[in-house]
Amino acid sequence: MQYPDPLESLNPQQREAATHGTGETAGDTRPLLVIAGAGSGKTNTLAHRVANLIRHGADPQRMMLLTFSRRAAQEMERRAGSVLQKALGLAGTQQMPNLPWSGTFHAIGARLLREYAPRIGLEENFTIHDRGDAEDLIGMVRHEIGFSDTKKRFPLKGTCLGIYSRVMNTREPLHLVLQSVYPWCTQWEDELKKLFGAYVEAKQQQNVLDYDDLLAFWADMVAEPTLAEEIGARFDHLLVDEYQDTNRLQAEILLAMKPTGQGVTVVGDDAQSIYAFRGATVRNILDFPRQFTQEARIVTLERNYRSTQPILDASNAVIAAARERHAKDLFTDKASSNRAQLVLVPDEAQQARWVADQVLRQREAGSTLKAQSVLFRASHHSAALELELARRNIPFVKFGGLKFLEAAHIKDVMAVLRFAHNPRGRMAGFRVAQLVPGIGAATATRLLDAMAEASDPHQALQAFEPPAAAKAEWTRLAALLAQLQEPGLAWPADMELAKTWYLPMLERMHDDAQVRKLDVEQLARLAAGYASRERFLTELTLDPPEVTSDQSGPPLRDEDYLILSTIHSAKGQEWKAVHVLNVVDGCIPSDMATGTTEELEEERRLLYVAMTRAKEHLHLLVPQRFYVSQQAGGGDRHVYAGRTRFITEAMLAHFEQLAWPQADAAHAGAHAQPQAPVMQVRARARAAWR
Ligand code: ATP
Ligand code: MG
Repeated sequence: MQYPDPLESLNPQQREAATHGTGETAGDTRPLLVIAGAGSGKTNTLAHRVANLIRHGADPQRMMLLTFSRRAAQEMERRAGSVLQKALGLAGTQQMPNLPWSGTFHAIGARLLREYAPRIGLEENFTIHDRGDAEDLIGMVRHEIGFSDTKKRFPLKGTCLGIYSRVMNTREPLHLVLQSVYPWCTQWEDELKKLFGAYVEAKQQQNVLDYDDLLAFWADMVAEPTLAEEIGARFDHLLVDEYQDTNRLQAEILLAMKPTGQGVTVVGDDAQSIYAFRGATVRNILDFPRQFTQEARIVTLERNYRSTQPILDASNAVIAAARERHAKDLFTDKASSNRAQLVLVPDEAQQARWVADQVLRQREAGSTLKAQSVLFRASHHSAALELELARRNIPFVKFGGLKFLEAAHIKDVMAVLRFAHNPRGRMAGFRVAQLVPGIGAATATRLLDAMAEASDPHQALQAFEPPAAAKAEWTRLAALLAQLQEPGLAWPADMELAKTWYLPMLERMHDDAQVRKLDVEQLARLAAGYASRERFLTELTLDPPEVTSDQSGPPLRDEDYLILSTIHSAKGQEWKAVHVLNVVDGCIPSDMATGTTEELEEERRLLYVAMTRAKEHLHLLVPQRFYVSQQAGGGDRHVYAGRTRFITEAMLAHFEQLAWPQADAAHAGAHAQPQAPVMQVRARARAAWR
């Protein structure tokens, strides 16, 4: 029986990329770069390439597939699987190829480092600090070495971590990073050096790694020729999506693992580079063709399969004004008479109402909620909308926002498991010890010091004498931690034990224990989906689950819900209808990003990424009054914003402009929103006495 060849569905350039090095080009071992605009099928082509390689005998176990999120990796696996299935005519029940080495750079790095730990001087049971933990640790170290005197205006812990992270990811010397990105901190260069030295020391003592270590240690590991060769030889193919958002270290890692470039495929779009603020560099794409001993084969794609022509025209216009010349204009054959809409609304409350109305209207017109999304620059920008959606019972899932894991009670349970896994981790230990009533910071420190000095930290923990008042509860905790050390314990039994120990504490600590209990139950359910405690702790930290409208954790597959996402987290995805909030100056571009041309250009690309997510309907919302929260002491304020500067007068022809509510509809109805004050009586009263 003949099965249709899935490659037939690709255009000639896509097919060229998907089949490079197989079939007719079997002898061609050059690395491959696919560079092309949004929606041109880069990710789709990569999935076809994976399937095609497997069809030609490549071993899925020997492929490393690096994506921007775990979700993206799973999606890629699914797509490749369905292509394979079609090609081979497999029944639906047949096992899909499992790509054990697919995931983010950080997650794959964590796995490799654990595996090679004994060879590179790491302990296998290291735990991973998320940004919050890393900030807290650097804050603690800063305090210990006496740099926390605020009068001296030493940079805050978040800034310190930002500087450190930038140095790590760009491999630029500290003084250059300070000069170019943190000029107001240059006077602190010596102190920062000392601080970072102490921070690195603390991480080692506590057997923890932060996000940056996952890449830096991986890069260090493969800088050693024997290891590079050994690890490189385990993988026949390294495939990377969204290459424009990788940093210097990531490029180094690829090069070290595959110096000839054989088996390396990267795809990306320089016009969508939006992570420079974290040290990513477009140079990686530009340098790729010549960085290996073999020059790369380059394939470009020019046809867009995602958006209608009017949406494409509007997006192309926005990016065409960029200072750097990006990939050529895209074309599509999807004609439509719907232009992108620019919707002028009075304020954010009205914006929320307009979007909720629109979402429902689209649903009535036959589109599911899932086929729609609302995008915004920063997580807190969706607050008004979330309230409105809740009021109207429109279910949603929020990506890239405040994480499930950031709730205190979830952190508590995670800390217990982390502390059991790595008893030297002080951030976790500090948190856990203080859950016991009667144990405060001083006692917790005494415990952790005793553990740090002991040759066997577990023994020190069991021998610890807490204050008398804390004795009974401490004994319960010590017993739990001892149980969690037992070798025969099969995951997720650890989680069940931790939960059983924790729930009574929860009742004592919080009035809303019942609600929090549901979260803990949810965490336990999530835990069951991971293979081991280690995988759970690592992967959940690196790729936390989303927040949902009813706070009950990730939704079921068949439920219908609207997607809320930051633009950064929406990368690579697409929806039939896309609503972008706050397309105003001060937001896109952000007030904080108008300092340098580079920053400004990145903001332009951010808008471009948002616009190019839409297939059929694109709505850009422009609230005239926009709420700005000022961190630097000024308090919060409303500003009268204008349409983003990235949509110039000349571009307006590409948009349909609406104003809402129309004059006659502007009456205050049953859902009247709080109005902005027209006067300030207290200010008047004060002025009267001046
Ligand atoms: P982005 O830059 O946003 O990541 P991309 O270049 O990775 O976009 P894809 O997500 O792979 O683009 O593809 C965009 C859409 O076009 C998807 O819906 C995909 O299924 C569709 N598509 C890609 N190639 C083809 C093709 N040859 N025929 C039909 N549809 C295609
Ligand atoms: Mg893509």
